[in-house]
Amino acid sequence: MNMNSHAFAGNPIKSRTPKPREPVSPQSALKTLRTLLSTNSQIISDDDFFKILPFRKGKPLTGSTTIGLKWHLGWLSLSDCKSYLEKSQVVLTDDSLVYLGSQNENGVDFVYWGIDVSDASGLVDELGARQFCFVELRTLMVATDWSDSKAMSQLAIAGHGRALVEWHNTARFCGYCGSKTVPIEAGRRKQCSNDLCNKRIYPRVDPVVIMLVIDKENDRALLGRQSRFVPRMWSCLAGFIEPGESLEEAVRRETWEETGIEVGEVVYHSSQPWPGFYPFLSLSLSSSSFNY
Ligand SMILES: [Zn+2]
Repeated sequence: MNMNSHAFAGNPIKSRTPKPREPVSPQSALKTLRTLLSTNSQIISDDDFFKILPFRKGKPLTGSTTIGLKWHLGWLSLSDCKSYLEKSQVVLTDDSLVYLGSQNENGVDFVYWGIDVSDASGLVDELGARQFCFVELRTLMVATDWSDSKAMSQLAIAGHGRALVEWHNTARFCGYCGSKTVPIEAGRRKQCSNDLCNKRIYPRVDPVVIMLVIDKENDRALLGRQSRFVPRMWSCLAGFIEPGESLEEAVRRETWEETGIEVGEVVYHSSQPWPGFYPFLSLSLSSSSFNY
């Protein structure tokens, strides 16, 4: 199955996590990042292999071209990112960057990072002067040509980045002892700062089922609509999976709760990341259901 057919799937920079000894691994990249930042220089050299994607209130930085109205992610170099933040009196530290992945482009290895710049108020005007702006992920999804695999890859990277950056904002304290959490593994995990606890915390994923319920004759589909929907808009039924529940059970329970219809056989279709539209990273599991 072509995963690029699903929005937010097919992220090319996280198809595999490099081994720790590889120069583009989270461990090696973080070490290099610390060295570069500790130079305390206005202009950081040799940082070309780092690309940084800023997020403001969950919106990735993007640019657009008038030709074909295409958009692209607004990657910054480490030195550019540092100087932009300094203009807003924000100091760039290794703790503020989140490792997103790596990729070899034309024989050169690049490491990609995300950063939340919501506190840097002056950044919008600064970047606006360079024809960049922060755009809602859902808007980008609608603006993307789904047959354009490169654009779909960019969308997947933006979705993953937003989910991780937003998770850092919401997982500030340990759920076990209440102490502050600190990023570890280049921001891919967090850990409780209390030495008596040291609980590791992983990015949260909330699984959701979305289902197309069809009748036995296979000629009618059960759809729903919410009061906030525009006229004539209908959608498949969907809902969060509860603890101790299989996908099939979630499909049956949600369908019955929302419509009173009892579902028969449940057939799995595919899965899809759905980042940032719920409070955390959501995972959608699609299925076709047969109503008897
Ligand atoms: Zn703790």
